[in-house]
Amino acid sequence: MQANVNAGSDRRNAFFCVPLRPLRLKVSGFLCAPQCPPWFMVLLVLSITATGCTKSGQVATPSSAAAAAVEKSEAAAPAQNLPPDSSPLPQIDAKRAFEYTREVTAFGPRYIGSENHKKLENYILNHLKGDQVEDDAFTADTVEGKFPVRNIIAKFPGKKDGIIAILGHYDTNYPLRNTGYVGANDGGSSTAILLEFANYFRGQINRENPGSSSTPKLRDGYSVWLVWTDAEEAVRQWSDTDSVYGTRHLAEKWEKDGTLKKIKALFVMDMIAAEDVNIIRDTNSTPWLLDLINSAAERGGYQSHFYALQFGEEDDHIPFVRRGVPSADVISVPYGYNDVFHHTPQDTMDKLSPKSLEIVGNTILETVHLLDQR
Ligand code: ZN
Repeated sequence: MQANVNAGSDRRNAFFCVPLRPLRLKVSGFLCAPQCPPWFMVLLVLSITATGCTKSGQVATPSSAAAAAVEKSEAAAPAQNLPPDSSPLPQIDAKRAFEYTREVTAFGPRYIGSENHKKLENYILNHLKGDQVEDDAFTADTVEGKFPVRNIIAKFPGKKDGIIAILGHYDTNYPLRNTGYVGANDGGSSTAILLEFANYFRGQINRENPGSSSTPKLRDGYSVWLVWTDAEEAVRQWSDTDSVYGTRHLAEKWEKDGTLKKIKALFVMDMIAAEDVNIIRDTNSTPWLLDLINSAAERGGYQSHFYALQFGEEDDHIPFVRRGVPSADVISVPYGYNDVFHHTPQDTMDKLSPKSLEIVGNTILETVHLLDQR
């Protein structure tokens, strides 16, 4: 996701410049009152409202194209009056997901074009043996030269007509390649949760098709496509043209072949394993889908880990948001106080917790379940 690795983190600006109205209300009404003196409240509100920037002084609202797309995807919102869900909450194996995170991180820096990147591709593919797997491979022409880029897609077909896509990037930052940066949370956790989701959906399909020899076996619900996205990170400095190389390519391809029209919802998992996980309410995402995630979080008693902060995030969802696909960026930032661990060699396993993978993983699986009921 967006950050300036050369000149300090843009993300830091995002936190302290961006808060929009709901956060302002939350900060002044919830965190401060009544202990804070009135002068502090005035200073706080002034400091928050005076600088509305995400990065490089940009205003913290979605671009007009993205905003229009968010509106478009909102207009397509399915009815919200669902029957109460009495089935048990889906459960990931959080310990196993944490072990995956550890194994992925142990490869070391996994920037595009590197040997470790190649090793990780094979590691992912080894976990998908027997699944329906597809590649979206191409060469990216970047300001640092040409690089092979490979999105890996695992498909779990369903009986309902439509696709739920869950994405997460597996690359680490090219500009940080010589710093010892291993991206345990940023790149590691997203790779791992998708591997665990693959276990879940594979198991679900086998449970729902006992003894069936017909191929393919189908899940009761929409098809679920898991996508390990590549080259999410900028090779030099985050911009529209230097970021999300993999998903820009995939969104264009899916637009041309008609896949995009079939996608009922798209999730991006990014930086989800920090001990104090707190998923932001991303203003570039589709509101009804964010609300559905919140309903799922409430079912699991996880809602205190969602939406305390709100601002516009740039991530792998943007190429899809711009094309009107209902999309949600599921990301926890800041990472450490003042975002100190983000895009630094401090992004290591000791900052992470299996509990966070459980909170976010179970919530997204429950959201998929709620979508299946529609
Ligand atoms: Zn990143």
